[in-house]
Amino acid sequence: MRLKDYLRLRKITNKTFANLLNISPVSLSRYLNGNRFPEKEILIKINNLTEGLVSPNDFCLQNEKNYEVNNNEEEELKKIHQQILSGSRKYLGKAITLIESSREKDQITSEKFLELFKGNDKSIRIGITGVPGVGKSTFIESFGMQLIKTGYKVAVLAVDPSSRFSGGSILGDKTRMEKLSVNKNAFIRPSPSSGHLGGVAKRTSESILCLEEAGFNIIFVETMGVGQAETEVYDMVDIFLVLLLPAGGDELQGIKKGIIEMADLIIVNKADGELTKSAAITQREYKNAIHIINKSRISEDVGVVVCSSLNQSGFENVWKYIIKFIDIRKKNEDFFNERNSQKIKRIWGLVDLKVKGFVKNLSSKKFVEELMRKVKTNNLTMYSAVRIISNYVIKK
Ligand code: GDP
Repeated sequence: MRLKDYLRLRKITNKTFANLLNISPVSLSRYLNGNRFPEKEILIKINNLTEGLVSPNDFCLQNEKNYEVNNNEEEELKKIHQQILSGSRKYLGKAITLIESSREKDQITSEKFLELFKGNDKSIRIGITGVPGVGKSTFIESFGMQLIKTGYKVAVLAVDPSSRFSGGSILGDKTRMEKLSVNKNAFIRPSPSSGHLGGVAKRTSESILCLEEAGFNIIFVETMGVGQAETEVYDMVDIFLVLLLPAGGDELQGIKKGIIEMADLIIVNKADGELTKSAAITQREYKNAIHIINKSRISEDVGVVVCSSLNQSGFENVWKYIIKFIDIRKKNEDFFNERNSQKIKRIWGLVDLKVKGFVKNLSSKKFVEELMRKVKTNNLTMYSAVRIISNYVIKK
């Protein structure tokens, strides 16, 4: 690791470390900034003092210019943070845009920004999935409005695989949730999906943190129930809701069985008018089958409830279940343990993103272009190219 990171991690001041090395703080700062490469004996000392964590290679890496947030920018980030804390929607939107940006510079800036967050375990993160047309938006709109009336602040992160093709966000999302979108205690953010794993935005986890910092305590993350996105969302939420149609069987539902298995609560929507009866039948069928297939996060049977988002009926049961679920898991610590293990998973997810980004950028490097030319003209084997590139990536 870089010496700078090591000192930060161990909370060692530059002065103390310079003393240990028997050099002046000025010399140390030259090494830290990559302006000078340390002499051999200094490198050995650093390696020993840092228990081998900072190796000579870590100083080579600094020669490749890494973008760093300067003091002015850091002050600017603190201001944005204050704005968010005091409820500015404009700055909240800007912050999420920064977090979602895939530009390397923005990523480094947003990491600095995220470090300002205090974080808390007071929010409830709710994943919600179901095939298009099942009534997710109608549900979130009506249920969300009820929660707002009881004093909650509701945020919605919508994820839509189809947006991969338009390269943008969900079309007409604002109109899908008319009342929520204009309510001051609600915030709707259709996430750009950047073609990542069936549509889940790469930075949804960080957007959640941003919304929580802004005081939103109910966070909905919506997906379409068709694939990989749900597994990812499952790993970022406290409870996962699956909305179903009043029609029997997984096949008729058009939803993948694996997704039903992940449900913490199944909600049969559209239990109104002519559909009331079939909603009750669907509820019964799933209640009977669910304990066989489901692996819920709590030991009790998964809840299966009916509601009508159109008539706003049945919401009490949904809310009661959510509260009970969270309560049980907070009491037995599972809630906090899972948030922690989600954090650890996220670390690896982000490392993976970074490594992939780094590898992707390699293709424009001069030496890689040269290698490719050589492979094309049969002057180098594919496998030698792989070896050279991977040796470059993995600087042991
Ligand atoms: P989404 O694609 O899952 O977000 O579904 P929408 O919320 O856009 O709803 C799809 C259609 O179902 C719309 O025409 C809604 O008016 C209708 N809908 C949603 N909830 C209900 C409900 O509880 N009862 C009835 N009868 N229709 C509903």
